Parts: sequence; C-alpha cells; structure tokens
Amino acid sequence: MKYECVKAKSLLSKKELTADSWFHINRSLNAYRGCEHGCIYCDGMNEYYHVDNFMSHIRIKENAPEILKKELKKLGFTSQRELETETLWSFLPDDDAKRLAMKRPRRIVIGVCGGVSDGFQPAEREHKITQQILETLVDFRLPAMILTKSDLVLRDIELLKELNEVAFVNAVFTITLHDDEKRRIIEPRASSTPERFTALKELRKSGIPGGVMATPIVPWIGTDYENIEGLAREAKKAKAEFILFGGMTLKPGRQKEYFMRVINHHFPEHADNLAAAYANENRYGQPIWQKLPTNVMLTGHQVCSTIGISDRSVRHTLPYGHEINYKVLGILLDIEFYQNYLMGLPWKVSEPFHELSVKLERGVEDLQVLREEGRLKETLLISNTLVEIIEQITETGSCEYLKNLLARIPDESSGEQKLGIPSDEVIE
Ligand code: SF4
Repeated sequence: MKYECVKAKSLLSKKELTADSWFHINRSLNAYRGCEHGCIYCDGMNEYYHVDNFMSHIRIKENAPEILKKELKKLGFTSQRELETETLWSFLPDDDAKRLAMKRPRRIVIGVCGGVSDGFQPAEREHKITQQILETLVDFRLPAMILTKSDLVLRDIELLKELNEVAFVNAVFTITLHDDEKRRIIEPRASSTPERFTALKELRKSGIPGGVMATPIVPWIGTDYENIEGLAREAKKAKAEFILFGGMTLKPGRQKEYFMRVINHHFPEHADNLAAAYANENRYGQPIWQKLPTNVMLTGHQVCSTIGISDRSVRHTLPYGHEINYKVLGILLDIEFYQNYLMGLPWKVSEPFHELSVKLERGVEDLQVLREEGRLKETLLISNTLVEIIEQITETGSCEYLKNLLARIPDESSGEQKLGIPSDEVIE
C-alpha cells in the first residue's frame, strides 16, 4: 500500500444539491483520494475519476481542513470562534444574536465521507484528516452526514455528539452483506459486518441519529431474501432509524473488469448471470433490469414493512429551521422516491412534489403560519392538491396521499414492476 500526502486545491463539491431524498445532503467532500477498503464494486475505480491504482495508492489531502475553512468562509459561513470575537455580537442578548444567526447561510448539510472514498479508511487512524474536518464543522456549527464502512468512527464519538448538539449529524453505515464470509471477498479491508452493526448501535446509544445504507446489493450474491431480511433485522436491533436498499451499477472499463475478475475467481456460479445483466455496457453502469434476479428495492420495502423499520431516511429538523417544514419536506421526498423508484411512474407525476421540495429546502416561511394566514397557494405557487396535502400534514401530522401510494406499491413476487396511475391523478 502506498500512502502519499498531497495538497488539495479545493474540497467541497461545486454543485449544491437540493432536495436529496437519499441522505439530505447539499455538498460533499473527500478527505482522501483512493480507498484502501477495496470493495470490488467500487465506483471510484472508474476512469471518470482519474485515480490510478485506486485501492493501493492513497492520497492524503493533508491541507483539507484549511481548504474547508476557506471555502466555508467564501460561502458566507462564520466560525463560532470568530463569532465570539465579533464586538457587536458579544454585546447582544442571546435572542438577538440568535435572530442574526438565522440570517446567515446555515442550511447546508455536508456529506463528510462516502463520496468517492471512505473518510474512516485505515489511513485516517494516523492522519486524522476526517477528525479535523469534523472539528471544523463543530466550529462552524454546520450539519454533516457520515457514510462509512469502518468502525474507526467510534474514535470520534465525543466529537460527533458535540456536532450533533451544536448542529446535526447523521451517521450512516454501508452494510450490504449479512454473511461475513461473503463480505470478506466483496469488501475485503472494511470493518466486518458485525463490527459495523456494533458501531452503529454505539452511536445510536449516544443519541446520534443514523441508519444503514444497504447499497449496493450485488445481484445474486446479496439479493436473496435471507440477506435482505438479515440486514433489516440487524439494523432494527442496532436501533437504526432506517435501512435503504439499492442495487448495483457497474460502469464499463476498470470497474467492471476488476469486479468480473473477482467474481470469476470466487463466485464462478454467478459469473454468467452477472455478465449478462451488465452486458449492455451502459455508461452509467445501469444493468438490464429484466435480467436481474429481483427488484431489491421492492423486496427491501416489503421486508422493512414486515419487520417495522423505515426504508426511507429520516428528515430531521436542522438548527433554526421550522419543524413542520421539515416534516412536510420529508413526506414530499418520500412520495417522490416511491413514485420514481418503486412504482416506475413517469417524471411528470413526481415533478410537482420535487419542485415544492426544492423550494422548501431553499427555505420558506413557517408553513404553519402560511396555512393559518391562508397564504400557502400564493406564496408557494402550488396546485390545490399540494395545498391540501400541506394542510393535512400541518393539521394531522400524516398524509393520505402517501398512505394511498404505499398501498399501491406492487408486490415484488407478483412480478408487477409498474403501476399505471390514471392521468387525472397527475397533479399540476
Ligand atoms: S468503502 Fe467506498 S470508496 Fe472505499 S473501496 Fe469501498 S466502495 Fe470504494
């Protein structure tokens, strides 16, 4: 394994995401280039990222925390340390200071690791770049999402507790195989499956929100019912708030070649099926859906309903946000997700939900106030159906539209992949 310290020129992803229904993040960063965990399906191997020897040459961005500070300041954020030294602020009563703080751009959630490298991979033990990034986020009071396959995250449990107190943190473990023997081949240098569940349990015991990302589930190797059910049961035992199931993409080139080499060696019985499912050489790595053994999201959805754990991540209220706005946002994103991924409905069906989600994510007045003053429609420029949905959520906390949708999700075993929706149900 070769380690090299490098100077990064930039850190935060350029594009700001809005209304991400998977993790609720707006920006992401990578403290390392390359990843020692060596997962055989890793997207980072793809030529697109221009990282040669992705699994054996780890570049450590030693200046990442300084770059992050600079970039956050450029975006208009202020660190707590600076805030405390601002003369005006130090004389203000707490409430006034809080009001002023609300005017500052505080809403982005940063995906700290799990972009195209794991921030808690073995090099982090010595170099502590991710730890310093978390310290920076504590200083800037900025929410974060962590996605990892390593229990090294427990080293920073106190820091995560602090970050969760001053902002918010969502700790997510990627866990795709219940059987640790298979995991050893597929994700060779990551923490074992039991270690990841134990770490999640510890974090949840400390009051840190979090769950499981059961993605990518490798077709045939992980798509059996026992694996999906086993993961959901363990997640529930670890008090995960959710478990998100998803399939695998495999881009042509280095990623696919390496994956198939390992499969041919360790799982020759699945090699032909896997080769056929990804024979289309799709540039985004999408498989030929009809050739897959199962729709893992549908199976996951049904297993989660039976076991009693959410298959959607929880949308928490961010500091200084309006609780009801986040509640509505969470429901809209769930509607969009189920329509797109489990029902295969055309985009125009979910588009109005998505557009409203984006508005809420960017920040609007308290929906409760807008409703009481009868200003929902004119302020948000939305249809009567969406006004009714918001009114119902603000009044009762639940949404009939979502309940009806869930009742119509097809049974995976029926082989029915799509449900038509009458055109008069397409809302404007
Ligand atoms: S942990 Fe993530 S980044 Fe690292 S090798 Fe595995 S899939 Fe790639």
